[in-house]
This record gives sequence, C-alpha cells and structure tokens, in this order.
Amino acid sequence: MKGSILVVSGPSGSGKTSLARSVCEELGDRAYFSISSTTRPMREGEKEGVDYFFVSKEEFLKDIEEGYFLEWAEVHGNFYGTSKRQIDKALNEGKIVFLDIDVQGHENVRKAYPNITTSVFVTTKNEKILIERLKKRGTETEESLKIRLINAYNEMKKIDEYDFLLINDDFEEAKEYLRAVAIASLIKRSKYDVNKFINKWKGNE
Ligand code: 5GP
Repeated sequence: MKGSILVVSGPSGSGKTSLARSVCEELGDRAYFSISSTTRPMREGEKEGVDYFFVSKEEFLKDIEEGYFLEWAEVHGNFYGTSKRQIDKALNEGKIVFLDIDVQGHENVRKAYPNITTSVFVTTKNEKILIERLKKRGTETEESLKIRLINAYNEMKKIDEYDFLLINDDFEEAKEYLRAVAIASLIKRSKYDVNKFINKWKGNE
C-alpha cells in the first residue's frame, strides 16, 4: 500500500470533523476523506454523499453481509460503516486517507491495517467547553446530549490507544498539528519492508 490511514476520533463537539475536513481539503490530491454510510437521519444542512451516504437499516445490514465494510459500529444507537473499496483505491493511489470514526472503528482499522495506520484523538480543553459546543450546534435534544456526553466519557478512556492527543482549543493551531501528523503518516517506518528497502537501496533503484 502506497498511502496511509489517518484515523481521527474524539467526542461529538470536539470539532474533529471540521478539523479533519479542513486539513484534508488543504492537502488537495494528496489526501482523501472517507465518506461513511450511516442509518442516522440526515441533519439540517447535511448532504447525501458529502457528509454521509444515508441508508436504511435494511440496506446497511445487507452491505454488512456482502462484505462492503472495512469496519462498522453502532454509535449513539445508529449504525456507521467505512467502505473498504473506497479506502483501498485511495491507498493504492498513495493518498492519506482520513477516517473520521469512533474508538471502535479505530480498533478495527488498526487490526486490519496495523502498519499504515496513524491515529489522533481530538478533544476540548475541558468538559464545559464540550457541553457548550454541543448546545450551540443546536442539533441535540436533552436526551441525545446526555447520550453523547456518556459516550464522550467512554471514548476518553481509550485515549491511550491513540498515537496523538490533540486539544482543539485554537482551531488554526490544531489544524497545523493535524496537517503535520497527516504528512508524517506517509513516512511511518512500519509502512516499509526494511529488507526490501535495503536491497533496493543497494541496487540504486
Ligand atoms: P455523527 O452522528 O455526529 O455524525 O457521528 C457520530 C460518531 O460516529 C462520531 O464519533 C463519528 O466519528 C462516528 N462515525 C462516523 N462514521 C463512522 C464509521 O464509518 N465508522 C465508525 N466506527 N464510526 C463512525
């Protein structure tokens, strides 16, 4: 695989999606943002095929059966999944593949692609800021806010499994860090078969 995978996770409201999308866009042809399938209802302002592929539960279950997903998980009571074909195509083209997925997805992607995966956990400076951001978004009911907070605590417990912890306090500064990690993911040592590399190196290829 010529490319690399950059997993970006973190609680809802941490700003991880805006960060990842913004960095990915700036990297242009060098990067690819994976669009997941979900059974969650579309939010106001979201677009089919841009934010997600919105599918019914029946379609999602059929896709699982047909092996369409590299990984899938149930998050906040809805299903989310990453298309394997999309990812492999971008990896073969040598791109940095951005995956905005939860902690379960991270575990599974790391198992599937241990050598080419780099991961970043994004969160806020403190809990108060997270709650404020979620409320400001205006997409949450009292009930869904509660679910997302409980999920946030559970996700934070998995920070140890990530390569990097990024506090999204100053957006521009956080973008700079994420961009640096994204580019560095392409030269991760574990991406190379060292013996092959040395032979090529000696052969002056
Ligand atoms: P939201 O409903 O706020 O868009 O996303 C809820 C959570 O699902 C976020 O943590 C997001 O990163 C995660 N998510 C989105 N797509 C996928 C996916 O394909 N796989 C997994 N495992 N998680 C996903």
